[in-house]
Amino acid sequence: MRVLVLGGGVIGTTTAYFLARDGHEVEVVERRHDVGQETSFANGGIIHVSLVEPWNEPGIALKLLKWIGREDSPAILRPAAIPGMLAWGREFLRNSARARHERHTLINLRLALYSAGVLRELRTQTGIRYDHGTAGLLKLFRDDASLAQAAAVAERLRPHGVPYRVLDPREAVDLEPAIAPIAAELQGGVHFPDDESGDARMFTRALADEAEREGARFRFDTIIERLDTDGERITGVGTSGGRLEADAYVLALGTSSPALARPLDLRLPIYPVKGYSMTAPKGGWNDAPRMVVADESLKVAVTMLGDRIRMAGSAEFTGYDATPNQRRADYIWRMATRVFPALERHVNRAAVQPWSGLRPMTPDGPPILGATRFRNLYLNTGHGHLGWTMACGSARAVADVVSGRAPAIDLEGLGYGRFA
Ligand SMILES: Cc1cc2nc3c(=O)[nH]c(=O)nc-3n(C[C@H](O)[C@H](O)[C@H](O)COP(=O)(O)OP(=O)(O)OC[C@H]3O[C@@H](n4cnc5c(N)ncnc54)[C@H](O)[C@@H]3O)c2cc1C
Repeated sequence: MRVLVLGGGVIGTTTAYFLARDGHEVEVVERRHDVGQETSFANGGIIHVSLVEPWNEPGIALKLLKWIGREDSPAILRPAAIPGMLAWGREFLRNSARARHERHTLINLRLALYSAGVLRELRTQTGIRYDHGTAGLLKLFRDDASLAQAAAVAERLRPHGVPYRVLDPREAVDLEPAIAPIAAELQGGVHFPDDESGDARMFTRALADEAEREGARFRFDTIIERLDTDGERITGVGTSGGRLEADAYVLALGTSSPALARPLDLRLPIYPVKGYSMTAPKGGWNDAPRMVVADESLKVAVTMLGDRIRMAGSAEFTGYDATPNQRRADYIWRMATRVFPALERHVNRAAVQPWSGLRPMTPDGPPILGATRFRNLYLNTGHGHLGWTMACGSARAVADVVSGRAPAIDLEGLGYGRFA
């Protein structure tokens, strides 16, 4: 079949790769000059199977109220954004009921675990390089209650295939000596040895090369303006470069997905949740961390990507504006230097590259994958804070659906049907 993949982020590019490998004639349509230039550009870089809980944990309503307008908190809800997110916000709060939240956590986990396996297999098959690390994720806790709560969540995930170990501060330092300077501030940590890390943009670029070797083509600098339909099928795509036609279409436009789907009467409840990262050369920091370190109370994660340091965090409900806000970027830097005071000595602040991106977040947590009521339109979108973690599994499963094969995982709870 001829398949158009709409969007060249990590999700669209992985989908194109698997479709091309299945023998389809694939073309990716992307408005930027290259793949991976929007939300997949400089994310936290963590394949965090351990962090699959949707962000609307029970009790989130109170927290959201506390975050309104607060520049000095890990999350911020801007009053101006509230009118534009009422319907989504209502669903987000409704899904924070404990039973729903636990159910959605397990749906995310099913996909994340599958995805981690597909990524490992892909690495072996292609030898793809993306500054990846396999030393796991160490979460740090500064109070007993949050450590106990995290241990309880980890214990719920364990039987499904997520090993973990709770550590006291001394054991945490033994495992990751780079945290020694702040050991006295910690109550302990939880180590997830199977989590991984890597540069999502570098991966996306390298996989685009692999996809091209499999025959896929990439049409850059082309804005998708509309999807045409005869009511049953998509008949073509109107773009800034003219009309394109195919046998099948995969929508992978991140936070732009709802705008293109809305005229078709497809309601994709995806809201942009802005986040920040800062990237710097590690310079002379020879005792930099080996593994990903995430401080749960400061809500910042520090990941080594080859000889670079990536610091990421922050959740900002502020609409579709992706431009970095200096105060939020400064906040990430301040939190990262509280976890690793050595950053101040080794990293030249002027060389730090700030970035911000919009997480495509659904109100229940899991992404939206697979078929729609249009016979030849498929979705792979809405991955929120887990798009890098879930990219390979989502792409493999959606490519299977497009090819008319049963995916290797159950897509229950991941389809569009839950919103239709
Ligand atoms: C600060 C931050 C940290 C994060 N950390 C992690 C992490 O550690 N681990 C993890 O798993 N996930 C993480 N995420 C989430 C992850 O980055 C996203 O889920 C993922 O990048 C989404 O990929 P995507 O391909 O759906 O979207 P995108 O990368 O945004 O791709 C969509 C593409 O569609 C194109 N497009 C949009 N509209 C049009 C149009 N009209 N015409 C043509 N092209 C169009 C865009 O240019 C873009 O290239 C993080 C996100 C942020 C913001």
